[in-house]
Amino acid sequence: MPNNGDLIILTNPAGKRYLRRANIHDDLHSNEGVLPMAEVMAAEYGAIVRTRQGYPFKLMRPTLSDLVQGVKRQTQIIYPKDIGYICVRLGVGNGRKIIEAGTGSGSLTIAFSWFSGENGRVCTYEARPEFHALARRNIEWAGVGHNVTMHNHDIAHGFLDTDADALFLDVRTPWEYLEHAVRAVKPGAMLGFLLPTVDQVNTLLLALERGPFDDFEVTEILVRRWKPVADRLRPEDRMIAHTGFLVFARVQEQCEDWNSLRKLGTRERKQEAARLERMETAGDEAAE
Ligand code: SAM
Repeated sequence: MPNNGDLIILTNPAGKRYLRRANIHDDLHSNEGVLPMAEVMAAEYGAIVRTRQGYPFKLMRPTLSDLVQGVKRQTQIIYPKDIGYICVRLGVGNGRKIIEAGTGSGSLTIAFSWFSGENGRVCTYEARPEFHALARRNIEWAGVGHNVTMHNHDIAHGFLDTDADALFLDVRTPWEYLEHAVRAVKPGAMLGFLLPTVDQVNTLLLALERGPFDDFEVTEILVRRWKPVADRLRPEDRMIAHTGFLVFARVQEQCEDWNSLRKLGTRERKQEAARLERMETAGDEAAE
């Protein structure tokens, strides 16, 4: 049963969803008539409630997926399909400290806060005051944030937190902040990045290979939904084909003879030679 102030979802038979805050003085006025909130709040989640005209609505409790997609947006947000993998890969959880930039509309921050529990901490950075304020409202609206520290701060000046277990960057040029990132996390911490274009992934990989990083992963998560009809089971006609590439790396001390001791195939030997050549060129350029 919803309490006063809880977020609820009311859905009509045409599929229109109203994500509302339960307030006994705030009836839902829809095209199908007035839905008295006192009756909604006396019903169980999963029940049918009716407008004064007798029109049925389903009463549902929002999931985390509804919350991250229900925020007011002024930036691109991160979607549930990517959020799930990010959280697992970074090990977001109770007792862990996660740093994130930029906060944007706060979608990912809501998920980090949700998974971080009572003893976790999320430290999120946003350079633009208007997005910082918007994210604060969205996080409060979602009913999370008790474990979140929000900084209106440009990470070009470094992070204000240290000793994080993991760090995630959803900014346009993450390679510019790698040194700051390494100083903000514990040795061996996981770093994650979301980037929309291949060019950005390429630039990031070239920056990461200069170290001190290892365990690189570039992943794209595609979700193909199927029509849930038992006797005519088939994929949906349309799908979201691209949101962003996810890149992960681990902060790792570098070891000069590591690669020479690895067993490499012909292609890997060529790739390693090309990498060493890039490192040498970068070193020469830095010395000039
Ligand atoms: N992950 C967010 C979400 O799920 O709502 C969206 C992030 S949005 C795509 C990128 C944000 O990074 C923008 O709000 C931008 O202002 C912020 N940003 C870019 N560069 C930054 C920097 N150097 N320091 C802090 N924030 C930065």
